Amino acid sequence: MSKDFSPLLPAANPPAWLGVMGGGQLGRMFAQAAQSMGYQVAVLEPADECPAGQVAQRLVNAGYSDAAGLDALAAQCLAVTTEFENVPADSLSRLAERVFVAPNAHGVSVAQDRIAEKKFFVDCAPRSGVMPAPHKVIASQQDIDDIADDLLPGILKTVRMGYDGKGQVRVKSREDVRAAFESMDKVTCLLEKMLPLAYEVSVLTARGADGASVVYPIAENVHRDGILFTTTVPGPNVSDASAKVAQQAAQAIVAELGYVGVLCIEFFVLTDGSLVVNEMAPRPHNSGHYTMDACVTSQFAQQVRAMARLPLGDVRQHSPAVMLNILGDVWFEGDSDTAREPAWDRILALPGACLHLYGKDDPRRARKMGHLTIVAPTLDEAQRQLNAACAILGIEP
Ligand code: ATP
Ligand code: MG
Repeated sequence: MSKDFSPLLPAANPPAWLGVMGGGQLGRMFAQAAQSMGYQVAVLEPADECPAGQVAQRLVNAGYSDAAGLDALAAQCLAVTTEFENVPADSLSRLAERVFVAPNAHGVSVAQDRIAEKKFFVDCAPRSGVMPAPHKVIASQQDIDDIADDLLPGILKTVRMGYDGKGQVRVKSREDVRAAFESMDKVTCLLEKMLPLAYEVSVLTARGADGASVVYPIAENVHRDGILFTTTVPGPNVSDASAKVAQQAAQAIVAELGYVGVLCIEFFVLTDGSLVVNEMAPRPHNSGHYTMDACVTSQFAQQVRAMARLPLGDVRQHSPAVMLNILGDVWFEGDSDTAREPAWDRILALPGACLHLYGKDDPRRARKMGHLTIVAPTLDEAQRQLNAACAILGIEP
């Protein structure tokens, strides 16, 4: 049985301290949201220079499993959350003996292990109405010999630590699987059937300690080189029917998990219009950044409310929005390796431009440095301004 601190505690009101595991940009935007509500924020992060550490009132400089660091966080804070998926579940359990932790170790451990996650989705399907892609665990040569013909072509994904398309290999034959499995040092993998995607959506949800939940509008995502490129809301391809199915599925999933906090669930919409659940992130998500500028309650403010056991906020979207990730690439012209600052003045001259930079001083290609959300009275107008932003930044729209 879980030894978790009771969720039936009174709300943690400002100016209480809230803690976050991880010092990346999601921790930074969490801290900023918490501070704007009057909270004080402590970040636990091993790096001494980090996006969240720049803004938090306290940086606990310790490893994610460091007992003294965890105890310091628990002693100071009334509640603790996480900003990254691969936070050690044992650390959350340790924290939960002394302080309210949302999401808890259970939810996070399901989300960080593709096998547990797929099994959970399958078990949940009678209630959610959606299934994951057909798949098979690959842990040995025998597993490869046993692959059914109709699982190929497929994608071999490492079970743990995958993100931004890392730890994935596309495979056409058992021979490809064998080679890919060996190239990944034979860590346990999951083989997923390659599905005919029409487009990808994510559904951002939040659930409070009292069991109440909210679902944001469906976001349509475009990836480039394995990294989220844009999120558009409302999604230009999303039909009312598939939006309804996805929203109901998300609510069933978050309830079944007994989850408290912000959870983002990624779905594929196939060419035949059917919906497949892909994966979930136990935290605010890159595809939810548009909520900062286009919704009444941002995903980070929602994370604060859930962990503080306050009522969840209004998820209403007041403006159509397109979010563009700003990668380190835009600091470099062509193949040049000399970084120069992009023309932010020209970006900020665009109507509806909301610029968010994460305070990282070392731009590298493929590194997430910030994001730009364009809000506008119509989606067409937002897309027009986004194209203008892409032209300024030298990005193919
Ligand atoms: P991220 O961190 O960006 O969400 P990830 O590394 O966790 O990515 P996935 O989201 O599972 O990995 O896969 C990355 C991308 O690969 C998906 O967004 C999708 O475009 C494609 N993809 C993954 N699984 C399948 C599949 N079964 N069929 C077709 N395309 C797929
Ligand atoms: Mg994904």
